[in-house]
Amino acid sequence: MIKKIKDERTIVSNKMIYLQQVKQNNMSEVLGRIWQYRQASRVELVERTGLTSGTLTNLTHELIEMNVLRENESISGNVGRRRVMLGFDPRVYRIIGLDIGRTALEIVVMDLNGEILQSIERDMSGCKGPEEYFRIITPIVNEVKKGLEAEGCKILGLGAGIPGPIDYDQGTLLAPPNFPGWEGYPVQRVLEEQCGLVTLIDDDARTSAMAERWYGLGKSSQNLVFVTMGVGIGGGVVSGGAIVRGANGLSGQVGHMTIVQDGKMCDCGNRGCWETVGSIPGILSRWAQGGTIEEFQAAIKRREPEALQCLDKTISYMETALVNIQNLYDPEVIVLGGRLYPLLSDSMDSLKPRFQSRLYAFAKDRLRIESSTFGTSQGAVGAAALLLNFLLSEPVRLLSLTEG
Ligand SMILES: [Zn+2]
Repeated sequence: MIKKIKDERTIVSNKMIYLQQVKQNNMSEVLGRIWQYRQASRVELVERTGLTSGTLTNLTHELIEMNVLRENESISGNVGRRRVMLGFDPRVYRIIGLDIGRTALEIVVMDLNGEILQSIERDMSGCKGPEEYFRIITPIVNEVKKGLEAEGCKILGLGAGIPGPIDYDQGTLLAPPNFPGWEGYPVQRVLEEQCGLVTLIDDDARTSAMAERWYGLGKSSQNLVFVTMGVGIGGGVVSGGAIVRGANGLSGQVGHMTIVQDGKMCDCGNRGCWETVGSIPGILSRWAQGGTIEEFQAAIKRREPEALQCLDKTISYMETALVNIQNLYDPEVIVLGGRLYPLLSDSMDSLKPRFQSRLYAFAKDRLRIESSTFGTSQGAVGAAALLLNFLLSEPVRLLSLTEG
């Protein structure tokens, strides 16, 4: 008898889990379509999702009640008929994006339409290790949180971009180059505990790719590679709309492709990586005169032959790296960003035809190379996009976590 009751309970709870999963999938489909078209009527959503109008009405009613969606009126066609359109509600929910950089910290607050409502930057160049870093981050995030709550807003969560690679199971950093003291540090847990918010973390090159995927060029291109060039060179790959991580979280580490056979030793263990010759330290190590990146930039402006020669070689390495990226990942667009990119962008007009001449003939006109959409805020905006991605894929789960 006892066993029978247990079995029935198991069946009931399995059925509930199944129904919750169905609801999650349907809600995700509806939110995904609205994000794709910015707004849609209920009739359009029934056509595009294949849901019954009863199911759709129930789901959208619930999402409107929770302030995720709202109704907007629009006048349609030349007959001037009123239509009710559904779009994301930008009034209540907020997402906080955090870019934990080696030399700078940026925090952005975004609404559900992807508008940046607030942005805070701090110079962190003198900061030694994570404890000191967090003594600055935590009060700022908590102040932002308090301000938002005082306005009646709800915070969906906190996304953080951080120099990788990352142990995704543990929420810790593995072995970030040029970031002493951070190896093994439990960034995700510390943020969650100190800020009391649902927290997601990812490699900063991947958050930069996520910024393009959800808020920038990815709206029209589901296959893209983001390349960030600065003190290091990193990459984030989006394939079929989803971020690619690989077996060890190392997919898209474009800075560590071999560019110079038997070249200089790299921190990753390989020789002749693109990063060893194409990053800021890589460039400066090849510049005969030597100096800082600002001095190098000034020397280029003065058209000094040694600096120009070094720049030409940098562009040539970049051309080879971009050809490799195209052949490996076959994206619709390669997006270039990072602190170093403005220095290289003037040379892109000469690089592009050489680059295109090295690709499959039928593919060369289809691929675009673009500059990043959000400039220095790319990483923080993308960190916020981690939460948007969570909302669109598992809305029931995230909203239940947020509502407590
Ligand atoms: Zn390397």
